[in-house]
Amino acid sequence: MACDFISIATKGVQTLKPYQPGKPVEELERELGLTDVVKLASNESPLGPGAAARAAAGAALENMARYPDGNGTVLKQTLARKLGVSEERLVLGNGSNDVLELAVRAFVTAEHEVIFSEHAFAVYPLATQAASARAVVTPARDWGHDLAAMTKAVSARTRLMFIANPNNPTGTWVSAKALTRLMERVPEDVLVVVDEAYCDYVDAPDYPDCVSWLERHSNLIVTRTFSKAYGLAGLRVGYAVAHPQVADLMNRVRQPFNVNSVALAAAAAALEDDEHLLRSVAVNRSGMMQLTRAFDAMGLDYIPSAGNFVSVDVGRPGGEVFDALLRRGVIVRPVDNYGMPHHLRVTVGLEQENTRFIEALKKVLA
Ligand SMILES: *Cc1c(COP(=O)(O)O)cnc(C)c1O
Repeated sequence: MACDFISIATKGVQTLKPYQPGKPVEELERELGLTDVVKLASNESPLGPGAAARAAAGAALENMARYPDGNGTVLKQTLARKLGVSEERLVLGNGSNDVLELAVRAFVTAEHEVIFSEHAFAVYPLATQAASARAVVTPARDWGHDLAAMTKAVSARTRLMFIANPNNPTGTWVSAKALTRLMERVPEDVLVVVDEAYCDYVDAPDYPDCVSWLERHSNLIVTRTFSKAYGLAGLRVGYAVAHPQVADLMNRVRQPFNVNSVALAAAAAALEDDEHLLRSVAVNRSGMMQLTRAFDAMGLDYIPSAGNFVSVDVGRPGGEVFDALLRRGVIVRPVDNYGMPHHLRVTVGLEQENTRFIEALKKVLA
């Protein structure tokens, strides 16, 4: 008889529920016999990468027989220059998801607690549970992170906290003032991970640029990604900026070749292409306006978002509306797993994609 392998898995993994990715376009097109499915489900850039990043990726493919540069030298040099930090502060990851996990792997054990907010990004509970650590989930305030509650939740066992700024799927952000208060009160042996996956889209004047805070706060880890505004989600590349000692410890636990050569080349080229980034942000701004105006006209509540997505209250179980939209060839994201059963999260697309979604939503809700 086979062993009961569940009983010998680590404590956290025994009850771990894996991340549920959005439905791939090709799968839905096959199921429905459609050819024009619109996917606004995974917060990808509707423009994709710019010409420079595409060309760099193509050129790097020529060298696919070779292992990548395990130190990611060129990308790190480019990041260091652009961010005004030393290279020793940088950790590259296979997506920023990778660096979030490296932080947990380097610092968190089963004895520790990890703090994050209700409705926060799904990777935080997954990474915490995979380490068999205890998740301390603080209640949200107006859908956003309550930093005072998160500060209060710190105990002697707390080793790390996750703050998504802006958060996915709510789109809420925390101000420089609120985050300063937290940083001043949290002990230095508690690592504060500020996840800035959507920072490029934010234009709120009170939004903090945490990379510039690293000299002041040694326990701060800032993570960013090329998956969103840079349009490189499929290549998987992101990074963390931290105290050199923290970065060194995170680098010790990563795979030696965790970022592939195509991703390294494309990311470095994308960083130099400011024009494309601006285009991406501009398309998002007008698309966000298009969506929120439509919601206003339909009398639907939504959570004001600083990202490239918005969560809208459809006034009934989101899963039902999601299914009905699927049948009309529009993929969005139900968020009941985030404790938001009446919301749908929709990624800002190109104008015609947003229009397809809005028209489908009107029909479904009619
Ligand atoms: C999309 C996202 C990420 C980044 O994911 P990658 O692994 O870099 O593709 C990180 N944090 C949040 C909150 C996100 O929504």
